Amino acid sequence: MALRQIREIGDEILQKKCREVKEVTPRVKELIDDMFETLYEADGVGLAAPQIGILKRIIVIDIGEDPHVLINPVLLETSGEQRGNEGCLSVPGKYGVVTRPNYARVSYYDENMEQKELEGTELLARAICHELDHLDGKLYVDLAEDGLHDVEEMEAVTEEESE
Ligand code: ZN
Repeated sequence: MALRQIREIGDEILQKKCREVKEVTPRVKELIDDMFETLYEADGVGLAAPQIGILKRIIVIDIGEDPHVLINPVLLETSGEQRGNEGCLSVPGKYGVVTRPNYARVSYYDENMEQKELEGTELLARAICHELDHLDGKLYVDLAEDGLHDVEEMEAVTEEESE
């Protein structure tokens, strides 16, 4: 396993559409292991392959419950709405207010290329939608309703409120 460098906004690879994975080769397995290591090191909840410079339709998500690897994920269903803060490992130190579906259901292939489904609400639904967007070259910054804010300022506000 190895840590990979996370590509940041401005890097044009983040705007490209990713290709489907046809076969889970040992290299793809290694990529998935590296994605998890990179995700946990960065203290994130999700990471898409293009964020480490690989244009394959693979995302990893862990919101603190179970680790999920989604290969060639396809959104099947969404419903409801949630409005909240969203950040991205490729846009360090920033967050924005983004409205997402409150429920999402996807089909995907696991590491054995077996087709499965995952459904989630709240943070998991948000993470699924955010990471799927990465596979089509889309970043949350284009959805943020009043631009980007500094995470440091958000923390300062929270501290004031708790006093
Ligand atoms: Zn992201």
